[in-house]
Amino acid sequence: MNKSSYVNWFLGIGCLVLFASCKDGNENEDVLPSCTDVHWNYDNATEDGPDHWGKLCVDYTDCSGAVQSPINISGASDDASLESLVEVFGNSTTHIVNNGHTIQFNTDAGTTLTYKGVTYTLLQFHTHTPSEHTVNGVSYDMEVHFVHKNESTGKLAVIGVLVNEGADNAFLDHFIHHLPATADAKYDDAALSFSIADFLPANKNYFTYGGSLTTPPCSEIVTWLVLETPVEASHAQIEDFHALEHSNNRPVQDLHGRTIKRFHM
Ligand SMILES: [Zn+2]
Repeated sequence: MNKSSYVNWFLGIGCLVLFASCKDGNENEDVLPSCTDVHWNYDNATEDGPDHWGKLCVDYTDCSGAVQSPINISGASDDASLESLVEVFGNSTTHIVNNGHTIQFNTDAGTTLTYKGVTYTLLQFHTHTPSEHTVNGVSYDMEVHFVHKNESTGKLAVIGVLVNEGADNAFLDHFIHHLPATADAKYDDAALSFSIADFLPANKNYFTYGGSLTTPPCSEIVTWLVLETPVEASHAQIEDFHALEHSNNRPVQDLHGRTIKRFHM
């Protein structure tokens, strides 16, 4: 071998070694544990906080995606092609669950939302204190998410209702003394029937954008419909929820070029 051949041979070995070590590095990063028994929380000072959700386990990688929620709603453009929300309200009996992250109300079948020709069924609603979405940088005291699902596609449409501290909320009053106090505790009451129509504001103007679940696995399957008009609940009512779920708002996520549209009558 002449001198230049030796140089090429060494360069070749070097590249192979570098390539192999780089590839190994990537593969190690991709080997995440199963999400069974994986815990997450809202505290970024811990390793299970929101900044780390996407790296906790194999099914939570969407949390590091580019189509995440919540967001700060700002600069929305009016879109005359948007339609008003068409919701058919049924009555549901009461099934409240404290899942350790939120207070969730599982609803009986019967309430549907039709949006852009697709019908979604209300499965549950749950609360965040303070709000997850912000509007022009302003946070609200609470936000309620009404989770609707299209059974054939699995896609979700979630109506977000912002809550300001103010007057006592008659709808929440039905449940306020029955909120399950500990994780995994439940409260069921077949005699306590309600319609979510009694909670939603009369004005259903909304902001909409494409996003995700705001908790792991952060699946990017959500059409968000955040109502522009907040409702009110008393300081004591909001505190009752906050005392159980603590601060359960994921920080707002980068838009990554998404547009926010606004429907108004
Ligand atoms: Zn939520």
